[in-house]
Amino acid sequence: MTSSTTRYRIGLAANRAHQDAPNSALVQLLQGSRARIEALQPELVVVGRTLDAIGHLGLLPGYPHIERFPYGRQGGLMKLVSRVVDSDPARMLDAIIYLIDPVDPSSTFPEAVALKRQCVIHGKPFLSTLAGAQEWFELEAIAGGAAPDPARDGSFRLADEGIALIAHDSMKTRMLQLAERHFDVLDSFGFRCATGTTGGLLNELAVKIKGEAGRNWVKPFLSGPLGGDAQIAELILEHECRRVLFLEDPHVARQHEADIQLLERAARTVTGYASCMSDEKWGDRWLTLINQRQVR
Ligand code: PGA
Repeated sequence: MTSSTTRYRIGLAANRAHQDAPNSALVQLLQGSRARIEALQPELVVVGRTLDAIGHLGLLPGYPHIERFPYGRQGGLMKLVSRVVDSDPARMLDAIIYLIDPVDPSSTFPEAVALKRQCVIHGKPFLSTLAGAQEWFELEAIAGGAAPDPARDGSFRLADEGIALIAHDSMKTRMLQLAERHFDVLDSFGFRCATGTTGGLLNELAVKIKGEAGRNWVKPFLSGPLGGDAQIAELILEHECRRVLFLEDPHVARQHEADIQLLERAARTVTGYASCMSDEKWGDRWLTLINQRQVR
């Protein structure tokens, strides 16, 4: 959805650890992005306990566009999945913000896994970290004509930032097309890394575009099935790589599923720092918008 006159509908949930504390991820998101929420006026479809926390913490006083969904144990998250896949414009969700605490068991329940998977399949942003959700609000507000929020400038100095690029086999051609289309913005990052095979292909592309200077454009780690995801996870945990663009193929079972989960869990472990983009459509839009927003 690109029109600034159409209102986004966003599913919102947060694991308990991200709700109640005075400086929780939910508090930081809704207070820090308040001006963006006012500008975009999204319809927020909020799961029960998260909405209770918003109420008793006084986070969105008087905000008119809120729909309550049931508590998690009564199917709130399951209903979000159903709305992600719904084609009825009056019911469908455009994006999910699910602030995940990686050590909360409910974040690994089938409905939580399905929520992410269906977002990938239907090309909708699945934002599971505070940093990813904050960035979404910032970029979409700018797409709608707002001025950049200077408080966010830090993470948009791309020359100081790292990005990881990973694609499953069936998505590798699309990763190369995406990287070619957005080569300049990717090139302005201080550091690029990838899993082994993806990295080799991206370096070939870079040589094609930049000649010899493109030879080490991306640092390739081990191939995903051999542990490359875990190596990139460590960079995230060490605050050396803030963003991951991971084009996943949600239609095949993978032997190294645990490694893929590990990588995402690393981003959620440093929720205020890192984010993971998992679908091509949002990845494409995100790269366009981040190019506009970057601080040179
Ligand atoms: P690869 O790893 O880039 O080495 O293929 C990606 C993956 O399949 O996880």
